[in-house]
Amino acid sequence: MKPVGTTGLILNEPLLWKRGKKGRSGYSLPKRDVDMAKMDDHLIGNAPDLPDLNEVDVVRHFTRLSTWNFGVDTGLYPLGSCTMKYNPKTNERQAALPGIAGAHPLLPDQLSQGALKLIYNLQNYLAEITGLDAVTLQPAAGAHGELTGMLLFYAYHKANGKRHSKILVPDTAHGTNPASASLCGYRSIPVKSNENGILSPEAVAEVMDDDTAGIMVTNPNTLGLFEENIKEIADIVHSRGGLMYCDGANMNAIMGVVNIKEMGIDVLHLNLHKTFSTPHGGGGPGSGPVCVRKKLEPFLPVPRIIEENGTYSLTHDVPNTIGKLHAFHGNFGVMVKAYCYILTMGAEGLKKASQLAVLNANYIKEKLKDVLHLPYDRPCMHECVFSDKNQSDYNITTLDMAKRLIDYGFHPPTIYFPLVVHGAIMIEPTETESLESIDEFIETFKCIVEEAKQNPELLHEAPVKTKVKRLDETAAARKPCLRG
Ligand SMILES: *Cc1c(COP(=O)(O)O)cnc(C)c1O
Repeated sequence: MKPVGTTGLILNEPLLWKRGKKGRSGYSLPKRDVDMAKMDDHLIGNAPDLPDLNEVDVVRHFTRLSTWNFGVDTGLYPLGSCTMKYNPKTNERQAALPGIAGAHPLLPDQLSQGALKLIYNLQNYLAEITGLDAVTLQPAAGAHGELTGMLLFYAYHKANGKRHSKILVPDTAHGTNPASASLCGYRSIPVKSNENGILSPEAVAEVMDDDTAGIMVTNPNTLGLFEENIKEIADIVHSRGGLMYCDGANMNAIMGVVNIKEMGIDVLHLNLHKTFSTPHGGGGPGSGPVCVRKKLEPFLPVPRIIEENGTYSLTHDVPNTIGKLHAFHGNFGVMVKAYCYILTMGAEGLKKASQLAVLNANYIKEKLKDVLHLPYDRPCMHECVFSDKNQSDYNITTLDMAKRLIDYGFHPPTIYFPLVVHGAIMIEPTETESLESIDEFIETFKCIVEEAKQNPELLHEAPVKTKVKRLDETAAARKPCLRG
């Protein structure tokens, strides 16, 4: 097995303070041709303790540090649920165009026509892709979209003279769902998935009552499985006056294939930074648009954009709005990237992307199920979920295998999530990986499974080739070392 990763040229890098030498400098200015003026003492104060460095030292320092990082531009990043797909560079270029990057959010509508038109069109595209009727682009991320959705539930029910204390959340929902519901004052009632890893209508009917505002379903769910009974579940929830929320962060599996409105969904959020191609992770800006059915449109956040005879304007005149969720219009740069992505892909391209994402995940599932335990052996969507059950004979856990992947040059998958699978290994290859890169990953995983049998001690120590070896993750979280 030839590892993808090696450590030969990953260089050590001391702090800049250790590199500095008194008198070095990274700039040269023309000789002064005026007399030096003395500065007031009180303005001088104590100079900051900065090292003296030349230009090449600074450039090398930051370039070397950048090689310690791993991203989708480095290699396969199969982090389940996060959709770490490759983001075409043209998206970045368009978002950086001076007229777009420099647009000021306080400019009057008549001087912001291009930006407003882009937002308006993007809303329409997302409505078309999901099948829903109206969209807000204000929320800054998926979880923010969920909170928006819960506020919409609350406002809708209130307008109909109803108040509820509960919301149903399946055990295969994303962890942010119950958190968003409780931020909005709802108590989450867990619903168990069935032996096939999906929700059964009976389980929902059993807990759905008049004090329940609705249900939050992640579809495809966090096992990477499609909730096949969704329409029947929607009928049950609606018949008791409840609303259907869909966490659509996994839309990458179903773009152009599934009509969300026909699934019976009332409110859905999307993650533009996952499905619609914006680099994410590390806390970068995101966008979590919320798409709704007509009956919830009057409650959407303000300002809303209206179009009249080709002219776009913002209005705050929305009497039932839940208010504002973000400064100005939301994270505009992310919207530009999503807009560019949708236009370059086109309807057929988006559908193909989803089909390939599903194909790639199923390919990995089929190739690895002989060596890894597959708790739900059914066709999956964009990701497949294994466990470490087969390796427990050798006392090898999911964490050991994930850490060993790093030695071979792969980012580990999501681990120990979803919680319904003990020792879960959740792999999402996405559509942007070639057959060769997926095969390399599969071969590497098989090799690690073999090592688990032959040499378990090695796996307990992994990663062994990295700068920093196995960390005590509890101590790292409780006593972070922030000084290098
Ligand atoms: C990523 C994700 C979220 C949360 O999105 P953020 O943008 O990180 O807030 C919610 N649900 C699912 C299914 C996700 O994969």
